[in-house]
Amino acid sequence: MREVKIVSKHFSIKDSHTLKVAKANGAYSNALKKAYKLEPKQIIEIIKESGLRGKGGGGAPAGEKWSLMPQDSDKPSFLAVNCDESEPGTFKDRQIISKDPHLLIEGILITCHAIKAKHAYIYIRGEYKQYQDILQGAIDEAYTEGLLNNCDITIHRGAGAYICGEKSALLESMEGKRGHPRLKPKQKECEWYFSNPTLVNNVETIASVPYIIDNGAEGYRKFGTDKSPGTLLFAMSGHVKNRGVYEAEFGTGMWDYIEHFGGGIRDGKKLKAVIPGGASTDILTADEVMEAKLDYEYLRSIGSALGTGGMIVMDEDTNMVEALKNLLEFYHEESCGQCTPCREGTGLSDKLVEKILSGNGSSEDIDELLEISDTMNGKTICVFAPAVSSVINSFIGKFRDEFEAYNKSTGAKI
Ligand code: SF4
Repeated sequence: MREVKIVSKHFSIKDSHTLKVAKANGAYSNALKKAYKLEPKQIIEIIKESGLRGKGGGGAPAGEKWSLMPQDSDKPSFLAVNCDESEPGTFKDRQIISKDPHLLIEGILITCHAIKAKHAYIYIRGEYKQYQDILQGAIDEAYTEGLLNNCDITIHRGAGAYICGEKSALLESMEGKRGHPRLKPKQKECEWYFSNPTLVNNVETIASVPYIIDNGAEGYRKFGTDKSPGTLLFAMSGHVKNRGVYEAEFGTGMWDYIEHFGGGIRDGKKLKAVIPGGASTDILTADEVMEAKLDYEYLRSIGSALGTGGMIVMDEDTNMVEALKNLLEFYHEESCGQCTPCREGTGLSDKLVEKILSGNGSSEDIDELLEISDTMNGKTICVFAPAVSSVINSFIGKFRDEFEAYNKSTGAKI
C-alpha cells in the first residue's frame, strides 16, 4: 500500500502545533506567498482543477462551492470552518487542530484571499476545550507575528449538538439561534451568515488548500482516483489493533487500509462488518469490505457512502441488534425535532429495537421498523432522517437473521 501524507505530514513532529516548529517545516511560506501573487479567481480555478472535494461528509467539489461566492458584492464575505465533528466514529479534524493548527490557519488565509473574505470563524463544539485552547494559542501566535494582518479569525464555540455540523444549522447557531437546518434554496447558491455571503467548509478541506496551491492542481491529482483526487484522513475505531487517524489516498482498498494501519482485527478474531463513513453511513459486510475501495464513487456504487471516513470496525462477536440500538439512541437524542418523520421516527425505531432486544419482539416488529424507516426517507428538511432510514435498512437487510433470533415465538435469543 502506498503511503501518502499531505495533511498529516507534520503530525509526528514534536511540538508541531507551535508556530516555531510549523514555520521551520514550511508553514506560511511557499503556498501563502504564491497565493498572494494570484488573483482570487485564479485560486478558485486551481481548486476546481485539483478536484478537491469537501471532506466533511458530502464530498461536494470544493472549487464549485467557492465559485458560488460573489466576487464583487457590496456586502462582506465570510468563511465558516466547520469543526463541529460530532458523529460517532469521526475524529479526524481534531487531529489537525491538535497536531498542525497552523496548516489550517494558512489554509484559511488562502481561502479568505480567494473569496475576498476578511473574517473567518472556526465553529467547534463547546466540549472540545483542549482543542480550542491549542487552536486559540496558534491563532494568537499568528496574530503576534503579523500573519493575520488582512484577516481576522474567531473561534465560535457551539453548545454541543450533532446537527450543528449541518452547514445551515451551523450558521443558525452562529447567529445565536437554535441550530436548526434551513430549508434549501431551489438553485445552487452560497450560504448566508446574517444575510452576508458565506463559504462553509470543513477543517480538513481547508487544511488541504496550502498543498494544492504549493504543488498545483496536477500535484494533488497525482494521488487518488480521477473523480476522488488526493487523500483523506480516515479515522479508524472499533475492534482493530491500532485505532487512530491515518491518511490514505482515495481508491485504497478498505481491507488493505485496515490491515496496514490498524494491524487487522484484534485478538485473532474475524471481521464481521464495517460502518465506513461515520455513524450515518450504511454498514458493510465482511465480504463487501474485502472488495471495497475507499472513494466516494465505489462506496456509492455498493449503496453506502464514504462520509467522513470514520470507519467503525466490528469483529465476529458484535451483536448487530445492540449495535443498531446504540446508533438509534444517538439519532433520537440528536434529531433537532423540526420534522415530524425524523422527530417521531427516530424515537419509535429506538423503542422497537429495544422491544426486540428484550426478547418481546416479533417478525412483525422488524417489518414495522422498516415501515417507520420508509416514512423518514425523502420527507424532511435535511438529510439526517434519510441517513437514519438508510442505516436501519442496511442493518436489517444484511443482518435480519440476528433480529429474528430475538423473536419471542422462537425464543432463540443469540
Ligand atoms: S431531518 Fe431531523 S435533524 Fe434534519 S431538520 Fe428535520 S428534524 Fe431536524
